[in-house]
Amino acid sequence: MSFDLNARLAARRAEHLYRQRPLLQSPQGPEVVVDGKPLLAFCNNDYMGLASHPEVIAAWQAGAERWGVGGGASHLVIGHSTPHHALEEALAEFTGRPRALLFSNGYMANLGTVTALVGQGDTVLEDRLNHASLLDAGLLSGARFSRYLHNDCESLASRLDKAVGDTLVVTDGVFSMDGDVADLPGLAKAAKAKNAWLMVDDAHGFGPLGANGAGIVEHFGLGIDDVPVLIGTLGKSFGTAGAFVAGSEELIETLIQFARPYIYTTSQPPALACATLKSLELLRTEHWRREHLTALIKQFRVGAQALGLELMDSFTPIQPILIGDSGRALRLSQLLRERGVMVTAIRPPTVPAGSARLRVTLSAAHSEAQVQLLLQALEQCYPLLGVDESSELDHA
Ligand SMILES: *Cc1c(COP(=O)(O)O)cnc(C)c1O
Repeated sequence: MSFDLNARLAARRAEHLYRQRPLLQSPQGPEVVVDGKPLLAFCNNDYMGLASHPEVIAAWQAGAERWGVGGGASHLVIGHSTPHHALEEALAEFTGRPRALLFSNGYMANLGTVTALVGQGDTVLEDRLNHASLLDAGLLSGARFSRYLHNDCESLASRLDKAVGDTLVVTDGVFSMDGDVADLPGLAKAAKAKNAWLMVDDAHGFGPLGANGAGIVEHFGLGIDDVPVLIGTLGKSFGTAGAFVAGSEELIETLIQFARPYIYTTSQPPALACATLKSLELLRTEHWRREHLTALIKQFRVGAQALGLELMDSFTPIQPILIGDSGRALRLSQLLRERGVMVTAIRPPTVPAGSARLRVTLSAAHSEAQVQLLLQALEQCYPLLGVDESSELDHA
């Protein structure tokens, strides 16, 4: 009896599923230095280009001068500071909901919310392509857990028929590895018909979607009656870190009382909330960021389709190129990197078996010329992959 970790690691390598962490040696942005090499990158989630924005950095610096560096305690003890509170109020106003609650990150917001709302004797129904943090939350809640077919309201309805107890329907707003958008009006209708609550994790919709960047709910014109539980993360379009839940007074009070990942952790640094307040202001007011991004998405899709690449059903900044085999996806990623372009290969178990892909993401910080360079690199590299499925190259 012993841990044979080497065997597990070797098996992962053999399946082309071994993960490595590229070392980023520059700030986040289109032009980065990774593992000692300058690269043009298309794989971060900084859709609005705010992660290295000078005004956001200045807000963080001023916040640290004013409020210090550490949160110092949990929110319920003495860690809930003025900037945290101001950010919650600004996020409530932004989402048009009575209240918002700040979490340290999206994983914890999802875990805390689902486990506070449902437990033994209840039901949680999730899209089968939901983000791992939502699936983990559902499993850990102790509620009856079932996954419905991707974005399929009929599949959801048939599971709702069998649901017991309080029932929570949970979906990504924009699916993180596919870029498609949840059929929120349909899901909300199905949930309401059975008195279930709909929870939407809009980590990738805040910023790019909606006239003011308020995400998928704004995009579809839905309200708190349709989507009682709305999650946003701050590490993507907001360019900072953290997450929030927006909803009714009772929802937020319930989370403050019962969400363990909220209660038993130190508050995020208050200066970070100062930075996020600034990025929220930029996200809301600088409409050119969304407009420029929309133009880049169109440019990429038209160009990639002309090259015969298999794109997915997405109008969002997430524009995956479907490859299938993990070895081939890795090889294409490597070929691009040799030409100075970085796009990470996404493989199982992050995506379903046989659906490895290059997850291209676009940002308002990219220029048209940079998207053109990406398309040129794809034009050169894609044919080098060939057609055969025998990928002997091991980039582990
Ligand atoms: C990134 C992501 C999360 C996790 O958010 P963090 O703040 O990075 O922990 C949750 N849900 C979705 C859909 C995400 O894409």
